[in-house]
Amino acid sequence: MANHNKAIKISKKHLLGIQDLSISDVNFILSEAKQFINLNKSKNKKLDILRGKTQINLFFEPSTRTQSSFELAGKRLGADVMSMNLNNSAIKKGETLVDTAMTLNAMHPDIIVVRHQDSGASNLLSQKVNCAVLNAGDGRREHPTQALLDALTIIDRKKKIEGLKIAICGDIVHSRVARSNIYLLNMLGAEVNIIAPSNLMPKDIQKLGVNSFSDMKKGVKDCDIVMMLRLQNERMTSSFLSSNREYYEYYGLTPDKLNFAKEDALIMHPGPMNRGIEIDTKLADDINKSVIKEQVELGVAVRMACLKIFCE
Ligand code: ASP
Repeated sequence: MANHNKAIKISKKHLLGIQDLSISDVNFILSEAKQFINLNKSKNKKLDILRGKTQINLFFEPSTRTQSSFELAGKRLGADVMSMNLNNSAIKKGETLVDTAMTLNAMHPDIIVVRHQDSGASNLLSQKVNCAVLNAGDGRREHPTQALLDALTIIDRKKKIEGLKIAICGDIVHSRVARSNIYLLNMLGAEVNIIAPSNLMPKDIQKLGVNSFSDMKKGVKDCDIVMMLRLQNERMTSSFLSSNREYYEYYGLTPDKLNFAKEDALIMHPGPMNRGIEIDTKLADDINKSVIKEQVELGVAVRMACLKIFCE
């Protein structure tokens, strides 16, 4: 496959967060990812760019999309991919993340993809191993490949990000997807509206360079994109909501609230979705408005680009 960007190098050894990337790093990753979109739709999806390389997927939290997408991405590039089954691993016997990392490091992997419940876990891991580390979500901190695939999806549909008005709505305080998207969309020149009830809004939201709203209709007004988030119940230490029904009434995406956005506004959601809580089920499946499936599709291309770039 032609690589038009061969001369450009990424400035980092690891992909730990959007915050560490420069705009040229981001553009490089996105342009590499674009090259894989058509390959993923073709009959022969196999390349040998990563032949001889070993990729380990280390997921300490449940995952459907991200883990399968990283696994397919590695296999399509020809890497040997091992996804650890943590239910049967020594983690269950009390081994620490660092000891697990040292053990895996001794087997000379070329890349480790890690998801962990603690914010900063991927940074810690990257200091203990010799290979590149890709963060597949650490606690509530960052989920860089999700933001990159969201950006690729927006560019694919709207042909740009600069100047767009993008609403991110829901459980912002616990969401790594929100944080990575805020950093990336700001970097790429979008105007970002954050919508959440006060107890799910980060206290320091003003520092993030976004507009914040507690009224969803005001927050989505004239937006080009409405990105919904899942309630991160696993990160809630106390009861944050009086009821799911009340949440849906005020913060669920319904046709009447979507009417305040632009007529051609697109709906996004990183998944997994809770239909009838964050989003009306018909809207989630509306092929004219929802790009949720395309996010999953382009996720494979973005992860192929990241594996290729950081494995080299
Ligand atoms: N899949 C995304 C994540 O891992 C979003 C979510 O779980 O709500 O952060």
